[in-house]
Amino acid sequence: MPFSLAIVVPAYNEAQVIDSFHSRLGAVLDAIDATAHIVYVDDGSQDETWARLCALADRDPRVEAMRLSRNFGKEAALTAGLDHVDADAVVVIDADLQDPPEVIPALIERWREGNDVVYATRGERDGETRTKKFTSAAFYRVMERVSDTPLPRDTGDFRLLSRRAVEALRELRERQRFMKGLFAWIGYRQAAVTYHRDARYAGSTKWNYWRLTNLAVEGITSFSTAPLRIATWLGVSAAGLAFLYGLWVLLKVLIWGDPVRGYPTLMVVILFLGGAQLLALGVIGEYVGRTYSESKRRPLYYVESRRGGRPPFT
Ligand code: UDP
Ligand code: MG
Repeated sequence: MPFSLAIVVPAYNEAQVIDSFHSRLGAVLDAIDATAHIVYVDDGSQDETWARLCALADRDPRVEAMRLSRNFGKEAALTAGLDHVDADAVVVIDADLQDPPEVIPALIERWREGNDVVYATRGERDGETRTKKFTSAAFYRVMERVSDTPLPRDTGDFRLLSRRAVEALRELRERQRFMKGLFAWIGYRQAAVTYHRDARYAGSTKWNYWRLTNLAVEGITSFSTAPLRIATWLGVSAAGLAFLYGLWVLLKVLIWGDPVRGYPTLMVVILFLGGAQLLALGVIGEYVGRTYSESKRRPLYYVESRRGGRPPFT
């Protein structure tokens, strides 16, 4: 049974790999019995990416290229692509060849079995340091503990979505787009396919530890209010301990008439409480900031130009 398949590829400064990516993807798609539509989303690249994409769109009728008005980040680029496609199944894949296009037929097979979200799980990882592996493992563990929607471990954004999964995702217009969380949050039948993740083919990753830490904070705060609750419990136990300690001090003065002492205790208490308060304020601020940026309801991206048409099935 032929069906329509769309591939969404976010690309930011990927001029070095985009051609080899496209030829590998094209070869995979040739072997699939589907009308394919490839949407490349240029996320405001500063290099030759857009020119390469235009050339691809002129050469290959399956290709449609769209360019965002500036660099909005991978999540927004993905959203732009997902908003645009109209197909029975949609595959989301990175342009840097870390997600092998050869896995797509396996994803389609699981989709045909009736799954709505088929995510590709990384088996072993090449080209990543031990610290990177450790930190990402720790992140998943923390997320699992605090979040209401369990995240599948060791998955990137590489996955296949059914039509109704894409429609569900389109309704989530929040600005803090932690895509992995959103994919899991919509529910439906989800299944995994394991593959081997390659090291980047060329170019360098745009993720440094600062951005990864921010991503982790975003993941936790947009899917859980556990930090707020921790702050509350911290406050409650600090207040309880302070009350007991105060009682003890009072009794000591009343019974033994203690002379003025206790400068160290005072310092410790003040510093501890000050620290705890600042921490709680920071946590609250994090959520207030998020509320603020969501409440502006700005669009998630703007499209600057497009190249290549839609295929006949739409
Ligand atoms: N990307 C994007 N906008 C950005 C950063 C990245 O569209 O601001 C794209 C990038 O071109 C690639 C994918 O998102 O196709 C994954 O990026 P990267 O390889 O840097 O991330 P990693 O694989 O390390 O998670
Ligand atoms: Mg990558």
